[in-house]
Amino acid sequence: MTETVLRLVGVTQQYGQGATAVSALSGVDLDVSRGELVAVMGASGSGKSTLLSIAGGLAKPTTGEVIIEGAYLSEQSPKELAQLRRRSLGFVFQDFNLIPTLSAIENVTLPLELDRFRNGVARRAAEEALLSVGLADRIDAYPDDLSGGQQQRVAIARAVVGGRRLILADEPTGALDSVTGELVLRMLRERIDAGAAGILVTHEARHAAFADRIVFLRDGRIVDETRRQGAEVLLAGSGR
Ligand code: ADP
Ligand code: MG
Repeated sequence: MTETVLRLVGVTQQYGQGATAVSALSGVDLDVSRGELVAVMGASGSGKSTLLSIAGGLAKPTTGEVIIEGAYLSEQSPKELAQLRRRSLGFVFQDFNLIPTLSAIENVTLPLELDRFRNGVARRAAEEALLSVGLADRIDAYPDDLSGGQQQRVAIARAVVGGRRLILADEPTGALDSVTGELVLRMLRERIDAGAAGILVTHEARHAAFADRIVFLRDGRIVDETRRQGAEVLLAGSGR
């Protein structure tokens, strides 16, 4: 049985009004299941980041519905929405977004503390998350003392800690060299295989190969979709 974690139905996003209005998204439908990683590809300005912010409840769509684990975001109070974001969602951005004055483990523990986990429980969950991304020996390091790849692995650990089930990554490898980028994506893939669902925004076909499915956005619409069935199909779908 597939378990739908995220569902977008008829999502439209318009910025501005009248003659200067921009349609960033037009009627986007998308389902992401547990254990599934969906790559979103498209030119700059095609709506990828807008789609991700709407999927994560950071922005409200102009029309349409976002449903996360059965909860309609439009029906949530601001407090419920904040709680849902804290408990169910993890974000990974291009520029890592770690807090520089906190160690790796403190960065990962923070979302749990905000959610009032007891200290010991939060610490153990954070240690486990850092172990799962191969950073067990760097838990007390500060972001400045970690390489870019290590910082992004901390961000992935923070995105999944405490059983978050939906990971939204916006060009997470953008600031990394290709070898490190692939390592980070492998870690992301492992967390998805361990039971999360994810969206990966990327413009590299090679990186989209880590996904189960690729959707292509153009001018805010899904114009093509490829399910991974081996390298040839993937390359055909990526337009190369
Ligand atoms: P991508 O991530 O694919 O580059 P975005 O989602 O950032 O695309 O942007 C999609 C479109 O919406 C672009 O035309 C962009 O200029 C516009 N846009 C994005 N954010 C805003 C905003 N806050 N205000 C006005 N226009 C925006
Ligand atoms: Mg973007």
